[in-house]
Amino acid sequence: MAQREWVEKDFYKELGVASDASQDEIKRAARKILAENHPDRNPGNSVAEERYKAASEAKEVLTDPAKRKEYDETRRLFAGGGFGRGRFSGGGGGFGGFGGGDGQEFNLNDLFDAAGQTGGANIGDLFGGLFGRGGAQPRPSRPRRGNDLETETELSFLEATKGVAMPLRLTSPAPCTNCHGSGARPGTSPKVCPTCNGAGVVNRNQGAFGFSEPCTECRGSGSIIEHPCDECRGTGVTTRTRTINVRIPPGVEDGQRIRLAGQGEAGLRGAPSGDLYVTVHVRPDKVFGRNGDDLTVTVPVSFHELALGTTLSVPTLEGKVGVRVPKGTSDGRILRVRGRGVPKRSGGNGDLLVTVKVAVPPNLEGEAAEALEAYAKAERASGFDPRAGWAGSR
Ligand SMILES: [Zn+2]
Ligand SMILES: [Zn+2]
Repeated sequence: MAQREWVEKDFYKELGVASDASQDEIKRAARKILAENHPDRNPGNSVAEERYKAASEAKEVLTDPAKRKEYDETRRLFAGGGFGRGRFSGGGGGFGGFGGGDGQEFNLNDLFDAAGQTGGANIGDLFGGLFGRGGAQPRPSRPRRGNDLETETELSFLEATKGVAMPLRLTSPAPCTNCHGSGARPGTSPKVCPTCNGAGVVNRNQGAFGFSEPCTECRGSGSIIEHPCDECRGTGVTTRTRTINVRIPPGVEDGQRIRLAGQGEAGLRGAPSGDLYVTVHVRPDKVFGRNGDDLTVTVPVSFHELALGTTLSVPTLEGKVGVRVPKGTSDGRILRVRGRGVPKRSGGNGDLLVTVKVAVPPNLEGEAAEALEAYAKAERASGFDPRAGWAGSR
């Protein structure tokens, strides 16, 4: 955001011109500096590069009459000083307008909104960046959403493909059950901060201007706990081991991260909980594999089943399916069975991909060996040569 820097940067000084310089003077000065420090003329010169960037920025603001007016106004407001100690609260209604000591009212939201760049939410960012460096003031502690949590779980292949409901044990901060997250001892309740009347901010006058800063009494929360809960000492949060039931959707893949909204760490004093992210590890299966939504399976077959054709009984996620192997199917061929694969998120299922792989008898004897020798003779007589045309003349 440009405005944050406007307060600290002196664009006039950057270009070596007076603060009442004309447009022509500014443009002339900028052109000269930009030409002298152009990266093409100063390769690898970081000083020139910085100078070039700074001058470009100064030129962009000062040669635009609207932006220049804005810049002058911003610097005039902040030049009054006295901003070193206070801190503005970020966001929400915490930020008051400037009550001008001279009777004139400025409102920073209006001022910056006029530039069309920032909304109220960014104002806090502006001052956060500006004053955060100065001191060690705590951030105003408005009720804060709980942190997201990360955990991991291991699933079997079938659980991952078909989906599963499972209990998951988590040890994490959770709303205190004793005070239901309020931080106040049961039977008591937090009272409205008398210093800021619950606003979380107080107005303070400094020099010509008044401005808001977080209430030190309640540290910006707007309420005070007089009798803190004994179990959470007023924080509203305790560390608990809890078991939650998680529904893993069908079709998750190894390494996938699932987000469970609102199952993360509890927020302070009743603020919303964070989310829980579960990273899924899938144990490989002995029979099945996966290729996206397709389920893969390799079926051992005999040579004669491929040569003569057969129907194989193949397991799927839901029962078995008969897969026809046509006569003369080659080893390693993949047969596709539509719709018998992994459930898809969009509905329906992927396909089942069946790879046939010839199993060779390790020690063929007796009748089968004799028959195969007879077959070999007959095969040669038929003219079949498995290496016909293979490897050419090599
Ligand atoms: Zn408690
Ligand atoms: Zn207060």
